[in-house]
Amino acid sequence: MSLSKVLSLALILAVARASPVLNNPSPVLRRDPPAPSTYPLGEACDHEWQYLNFNPDDDTDKAHLELLHYVICSREIRMMSILGQISAKDVLAPYKRYFPESDEEDDFQTHVKDVLGLIAGTSSPDELIGTVVGTFVVDNLDFAADDSNEADCNDEGTLAYTLTDRLDSREKIHFCDPSWTRGKADDVDCASLDPFPSTKMDSFSRIALHEMLHYSSVGPETSLAQQIIDVKNEDGEPAYDPPRVHGLIDPEQDENPAMPEINADSYAWMSLDAGISFKCMRDWGNSDWASFFSQNPPPYEAAE
Ligand SMILES: [Zn+2]
Repeated sequence: MSLSKVLSLALILAVARASPVLNNPSPVLRRDPPAPSTYPLGEACDHEWQYLNFNPDDDTDKAHLELLHYVICSREIRMMSILGQISAKDVLAPYKRYFPESDEEDDFQTHVKDVLGLIAGTSSPDELIGTVVGTFVVDNLDFAADDSNEADCNDEGTLAYTLTDRLDSREKIHFCDPSWTRGKADDVDCASLDPFPSTKMDSFSRIALHEMLHYSSVGPETSLAQQIIDVKNEDGEPAYDPPRVHGLIDPEQDENPAMPEINADSYAWMSLDAGISFKCMRDWGNSDWASFFSQNPPPYEAAE
């Protein structure tokens, strides 16, 4: 080691001992996290969610931004939520596949109607989506990846998550890569579907609605008065997709009527079921839209 290095090392050690503050990270290295913006590719629509960490010059990011903008501004999520609300109010087939009817103890139908109503917004014909959605942030960064306590995109089967990021203290949604393979509900081929609801009709809007429902400003701010989470079936696996969501209330499977109203996928699949039923029956000139699917999803296969 050269003399100058020895001297400077000695100096550093002396200074370090004298001022322990040097052991803390330099304030110069700390940067303010970026703030979310409105739609980066053009004019945002009313109550559109906000965006973070997208690169509008990157083709992949651009395609994702366009889909995120479309599901809100085309009213696709609003339509699904409104049809879900109608199904709950009138106890139509899509509702009955995933939720129990209200009884003296619990007003399930009102809770479901209120939650979906908060997302859908007012009944004004100009409305595109509820005002609460304008406070939501979609972060393109897998911000939970470093946090071993939370779900992230490395967990098998995770399509997206909604969490509060420790870095900027914001509650945000992140969509994992597999979620982008889902298309628009409007593009679902009605003739390809089974007589029961299945993942063949899955759409990006269903995943987006699922994540919106997890926000702390949704469930707790309605008559439900509870956070909407991901519940598990009796076998300990998350109640995702039509067979498992239906299984929660099926007397021959879980028969657990308190679960669906706090399970995000129950709302999301019921609303997609209603939306696809409406679209397909309308295309075929039939007004009895709620009877599009004539069967319940098959029983789920329990994990070993
Ligand atoms: Zn979830």
